[in-house]
Amino acid sequence: MHEAADGAPKAAPRPVDVIVIGGGQAGLAAGYHLSRAGADFVILDAQPRPGGAWRHAWPSLRLFSPAQYSSLPGRMMPAPAAGGHPDAAHVVAYLTDYEQRYRLPVIRPVRVRAVRRSGASLQVETDAGIWRARIVISATGTWWRPYVPYHPGIGDFGGEQLHTAGYRGPESFRGKRVLVVGGGNSAAQILAELSQVAQTTWATLRPPRLLPDEVDGRALFELATRRHRAALAGQDAASIGDLGDIVAVASVRQARDRGMLKAEPMFSRITPDGVAWADGSTAACDVIVWCTGFRPALGHLAPLRLRGPGGAIGTDGTRALAEPRLHLLGYGDWTGPASATLIGAGRTARQMVGEIIARL
Ligand code: FAD
Repeated sequence: MHEAADGAPKAAPRPVDVIVIGGGQAGLAAGYHLSRAGADFVILDAQPRPGGAWRHAWPSLRLFSPAQYSSLPGRMMPAPAAGGHPDAAHVVAYLTDYEQRYRLPVIRPVRVRAVRRSGASLQVETDAGIWRARIVISATGTWWRPYVPYHPGIGDFGGEQLHTAGYRGPESFRGKRVLVVGGGNSAAQILAELSQVAQTTWATLRPPRLLPDEVDGRALFELATRRHRAALAGQDAASIGDLGDIVAVASVRQARDRGMLKAEPMFSRITPDGVAWADGSTAACDVIVWCTGFRPALGHLAPLRLRGPGGAIGTDGTRALAEPRLHLLGYGDWTGPASATLIGAGRTARQMVGEIIARL
């Protein structure tokens, strides 16, 4: 649409009031509220189809909350026909329907390369032309920046290493010795299914903490809400205790009952054929699966030089302190409590859009 055959912009797209970068759940939640407010906006998304990161998750991944607690504003996620917690394909179908139902102006595939200051506007440079906007909302998620912590010897390991982002299911690991690293939901769910076909070892930084069976993502969201309220009231949000890290979805419960969820402490180094602990003990393995999380995908914001001395981007709610025309949505609690969840994205988006509309 905006690109000539040589890749150069054909015609400058018209300026808009607001550009949302990213058409995953966070970008759609922002779009819903912008649309209701009658704002002039577009959503630029790098993916060829709807669904954001959910399109890339391994097929057996289960949400840690039931469908009705995994919904964006306006439209309840339908319960899966087979019951239980929704899988990734169910979320993709929901997000696809959501963006069509609300006729959200998503343009794809458009990858934003850089955001720069340009007089009264922000200039959004993409692989399909240059846009200008008065306000930019960055909602690019974290899936695109898998994080693997450094361990001595990591480059010498002779086996296979992969990150959660590259995991597609247990079949190719049948009969192998697999080390799963990390103490969160991804690690527990992947370990649960790998342990049925492979010889698994689990290494975690601290002992894994399973939530009680009857507690799921709803309780985590309520906890985030209480912390949010405490913070607003000037109280110490951290004083509101936490519950644990891992939701005992069906596959995790079954693995626990089979005795497969016993974790080792973190090893001290990686050897050519496995890992070694400080006490001299070792474990041989063919594969290491790093379930060690993600970092915000913010490379396109580099020209704005937003990072403070510690490397963090300072925000007041979602607004960047060093560039008030930029909002960041959905990256973690630092951009709104529980805003990196399906149910939490909507609340933060509503508040953010209220602020934006007041400024326009
Ligand atoms: P994304 O889904 O990553 O969407 C961002 C979009 O922006 C993508 O389409 C991407 O292509 C696009 N983009 C990126 N960079 C650019 C660019 N430069 N230019 C243009 N477009 C760009 N949450 C829950 O509520 N329940 C769960 O059970 C749950 N389980 C999770 C399990 C795992 C393994 C992970 C990793 C996360 C889970 N989450 C869960 C958290 C969260 O809901 C997801 O990470 C979700 O995908 C985040 O949505 P998002 O819109 O912020 O980012």
